[in-house]
Amino acid sequence: MSLAVRTFDAVVVGAGGAGLRAALQLAEAGLRVAVLSKVFPTRSHTVAAQGGVGAALGNMGEDSWLWHMYDTVKGSDWMGDQDAIEFMCREAPRVVYELEHYGMPFDRNDDGTIYQRPFGGHSMNFGERPVQRSCCAADRTGHAMLHTLYQRNVRARTQFFVEWMALDLIRDAQGEVLGVTALEMETGEVSILQARATLFATGGAGRIYASTTNAFINTGDGPGMAARAGSPLEDMEFWQFHPTGVAGAGVLITEGVRGEGGYLLNKNGERFMERYAPNLKDLASRDVVSRAMATEIKEGRGAGKDGDYLLLKLDHLGPEVIDKRLPGIREIAIKFANADPVKDPIPVVPTVHYMMGGIATNYLGEVVAPAGGNPNALVPRFYAAGECACASVHGANRLGTNSLTDLLVFGKAAGDALIRFLAANPGTKDLPKDAAERTLARLSRLESQKGGEAVPEVGREMRRIMQLHCGVFRFPDTLAEGVRRIREVADRATRTELRDKSRIFNTARVEALELDNLVEVARASMVSAAARQESRGAHDRSDFPERDDRNWLKHTLWYKEGDRLEYKPVNLKPLTAQTIEPKVRTY
Ligand SMILES: Cc1cc2nc3c(=O)[nH]c(=O)nc-3n(C[C@H](O)[C@H](O)[C@H](O)COP(=O)(O)OP(=O)(O)OC[C@H]3O[C@@H](n4cnc5c(N)ncnc54)[C@H](O)[C@@H]3O)c2cc1C
Repeated sequence: MSLAVRTFDAVVVGAGGAGLRAALQLAEAGLRVAVLSKVFPTRSHTVAAQGGVGAALGNMGEDSWLWHMYDTVKGSDWMGDQDAIEFMCREAPRVVYELEHYGMPFDRNDDGTIYQRPFGGHSMNFGERPVQRSCCAADRTGHAMLHTLYQRNVRARTQFFVEWMALDLIRDAQGEVLGVTALEMETGEVSILQARATLFATGGAGRIYASTTNAFINTGDGPGMAARAGSPLEDMEFWQFHPTGVAGAGVLITEGVRGEGGYLLNKNGERFMERYAPNLKDLASRDVVSRAMATEIKEGRGAGKDGDYLLLKLDHLGPEVIDKRLPGIREIAIKFANADPVKDPIPVVPTVHYMMGGIATNYLGEVVAPAGGNPNALVPRFYAAGECACASVHGANRLGTNSLTDLLVFGKAAGDALIRFLAANPGTKDLPKDAAERTLARLSRLESQKGGEAVPEVGREMRRIMQLHCGVFRFPDTLAEGVRRIREVADRATRTELRDKSRIFNTARVEALELDNLVEVARASMVSAAARQESRGAHDRSDFPERDDRNWLKHTLWYKEGDRLEYKPVNLKPLTAQTIEPKVRTY
């Protein structure tokens, strides 16, 4: 079958914060750039970000990018690469001020500077006491950021393909990436978007779990496409559980609530975090707070008739602070928990929130894959940024506010790297004859399969297995069983039947294509988790309770082909700063 081909300098898949920041860089440099998104750009999941973007501006007191770097390395449980972390923390103030100049409506201090609030794991003077580093627009920071970046892109004449879903990456015999195949959801037509360089910014994949703060569109399409095209996925065992999802609903209550002075209580009214993190208490990093909450519940101190949640108290802040700084949270608590936080505590429980792993990149957003003895060889013409990528700055546990920082810093850096590459490599490479083969095979299977299981059934089973076998606490037997069951589900996903075969805006077809990506991410996560024999950050194993730097200070690389793992060392060498040597992590 011959497909329509559209040709660009660059194709960006994803119109969240990372995709829009990268696209802006490209469009302003005069490149012909196409941005694809499954939803209207300002509905991308960045819109949901609440608490803020981290940058050591020092508007509320002394701060330094070195302290930000220290907190990020410690937060990552030494799993983050220190060159990438230094780059992000140094660049953070610059990208935040850029955003301010683009018109982002940040909250203000009386002197007109950007207001900053405390957040978990952010400290001054290398862990001494909490610092105010999170730049925010009330509790709607992502909304303000996404609209600002979208408007700026419209001004720069970025070309948007809205409700277009990228299906597969196109690579030629030399391994160079030459664009994507894509489905126009409205018409059901499939075409080729050919590009001199391709950038993935497809966001997270929280939808591999049953209970998550992530939107329905967060299905790991970028990692799925990259894995099918032979790229490794890095550190997929590290999934962040956010301490405060609304119990029973999964909707997020930002850490900004605790930043503004809210705190957690167990059923006895005890501020239990004082026992687990005597210094930073409720503002310890997320893995620490989530584990403490899971322990409280396990030991019978959870609240409610089933003892399965904890209480987030903020009524003492008073209605004025709540309405000024946390208006969205009040609305969410009333709507999803039937609790008005000006008088009632909010029932909360740790909920899957963020994928620390992703498509392996360096700190310039260039995709890397070991080749010819070089662990960081580049995959030519391929870039990735944002939650779908692993730079790696978040390591085994991301600090709150550092994702929005990551989107801005690495979105921009990836755009710059791509511009440099295209300047040095003019011309468009020819597409290989089999450019759309993988996609056409997937579509034809969906068209012809008869008598298979329904897609939602297989998806539900995958989510149940991930939730049960790869949670806050991990056990050797459940992990081993999880690997067996997730491989089985991945196999079942290749035999699903699409009952409604119509083309026009067929969301069932989209869901079936998304499942192909979800199962890759789920399998990578389970297999990587079962193999890592230590406890580090968000990966907590009952049989290996300690961090093991001697054997495990290394990144996992998962390959779809053969479901196999390789490892490469963590980079402990910053660009200019001194190495932050691994030590015991306490808060
Ligand atoms: C409720 C919530 C609150 C948060 N609050 C904060 C916070 O305060 N601070 C912070 O730092 N982080 C926060 N985070 C995390 C942060 O918001 C996300 O990690 C970040 O916004 C992800 O941005 P992104 O650009 O990588 O992806 P997204 O914003 O998720 O965008 C992904 C884009 O890719 C597109 N896409 C995906 N697949 C395809 C495909 N196959 N074809 C075409 N397009 C595709 C989507 O349509 C979308 O446009 C929060 C997360 C949640 C869930």
